Amino acid sequence: MSPLRLTNLIDGRLQAPHHDAWLDVHEPAAGSVFALCPDSSSSDVDAAVDAASHAAPGWASTPADQRARLLQKLAQLIESRLEEFAALESRDSGKPLVLARTVDIPRAISNLRYFAAAAMTMGSESHTMETGLPGTGAINYTLRQPLGVVGCISPWNLPLYLFTWKIAPALAAGNTVVAKPSEITPCTAALLGELSIEAGFPKGVLNIVQGRGPSVGQAIVEHALIKAVSFTGSTATGSHIAAVAATQFKKVSLEMGGKNPAIVFADADLSDANLDTIVRSGFANQGEICLCGSRLLVQRSIYETFRERYLDRVRALAVGDPNERTSDLGAMVSEAHYNKVLGCIERASAEGGTILCGGDSVRVAGRCESGWFIAPTVVEGLPRAAQTNQQEIFGPVVSLIPFDDESEALAIANDSRYGLAASVWTQDLSRAHRLSGQLDFGIVWINCWMMRDLRTPFGGSKQSGMGREGGIEAMHFFTQTRNICVRY
Ligand code: NAD
Repeated sequence: MSPLRLTNLIDGRLQAPHHDAWLDVHEPAAGSVFALCPDSSSSDVDAAVDAASHAAPGWASTPADQRARLLQKLAQLIESRLEEFAALESRDSGKPLVLARTVDIPRAISNLRYFAAAAMTMGSESHTMETGLPGTGAINYTLRQPLGVVGCISPWNLPLYLFTWKIAPALAAGNTVVAKPSEITPCTAALLGELSIEAGFPKGVLNIVQGRGPSVGQAIVEHALIKAVSFTGSTATGSHIAAVAATQFKKVSLEMGGKNPAIVFADADLSDANLDTIVRSGFANQGEICLCGSRLLVQRSIYETFRERYLDRVRALAVGDPNERTSDLGAMVSEAHYNKVLGCIERASAEGGTILCGGDSVRVAGRCESGWFIAPTVVEGLPRAAQTNQQEIFGPVVSLIPFDDESEALAIANDSRYGLAASVWTQDLSRAHRLSGQLDFGIVWINCWMMRDLRTPFGGSKQSGMGREGGIEAMHFFTQTRNICVRY
């Protein structure tokens, strides 16, 4: 079967890239090419920005309820083809189909619906000014206005979920968009682009330019008419984007890497269900979630018993064909990433760590024989400063670290250049609240992991993030305020 040929969406039309250049898109579970992605260039970005600039005044003055209706319609069209989207997402990224079906695509739909509602409810503030002096009463009110054309750049690990997490608030707030999904997982965004035409978005409002980061991504960030860039990806790329954007005083929101701690105290309720969540927090989506807890801190008094129960569960995780219901872990997203993660496991051994389980690739027979699978891996015995404990691996590798007391747990957890998310497992409420204030992370989960309410702020501190997404924070990022003062 010839590979699926994806297109860009520019000015309301599905288009091949200007230079007719294409990138191979692999199915990670099979290790073979199944699609071709436009290898677009700056001329495609120029065309998309041009279209978005023409569409911007009309979209900004479109009543919020009409913008909301189009986002709702797009959500409904995706929902009506949920199975197709889930299969495509799983095939493109290597993640278990069941995960794409129950998490990625439903959450992408929720993003569109949530921000459709946000468009309708975003208000402005007003203040009556009374100075006490005669004749100086005034009312101040704030206009919250879209920025114009904005850029949205997203990664490969939760492709449609994070793509919609950016384009939905950008469009809801009245901006026109030039978006770039990851070239490694471009398929579902391309399908969304097709459906946006069916939904009835005016041409030029949503543009999708597929291609590589250093060409298309860079051109989006550098373009003088792009007023803001919302980026999710690695810290290295984020730092580069921030530097380029700074030269133009461009607004940026950066969601980047993590090296998240999960902290288990001796008094934690370690029911089977909670233990399952702790295991999932390390290995869901093959550990390819920025929020995964890759440093598992366990109080020394329960360390030995906890470790055995934990390892039993990790060893029982099934690595296999993403299409099989029984597969807990699918394939790593690309051959390059697979090799990188295997290299990190080798490094963990070289640093003196003991591999307690996993530690190698997994061969899956049949159609997945050439796929990029890695066994869930647990390592212990590494010092805090070891690279394995400091650098993001973004794969199924968890480092076990014992601690004696709360202050040591806090010191180990905060000893990181990252600050995305932490989870704390304890039944001591005072400790939970105390630690929540002291852990230097944008998100702290108490006795849970990855529970998300779209109204809450999402983002990291230190080198994990700049700015917040979600709820009103996203609507604020994609708008600017103007204050009007009327004397009466
Ligand atoms: P990446 O930085 O390589 O790429 C992310 C996106 O940026 C891609 O679309 C890529 O094409 C583009 N890009 C690359 N170079 C660019 C450049 N010079 N200019 C503009 N755009 C460029 O990241 P990745 O490997 O796709 O994703 C994995 C990373 O994403 C991990 O570090 C992970 O922690 C992070 N991530 C963070 C969050 C979060 O919310 N904090 C969520 C998911 C993933």
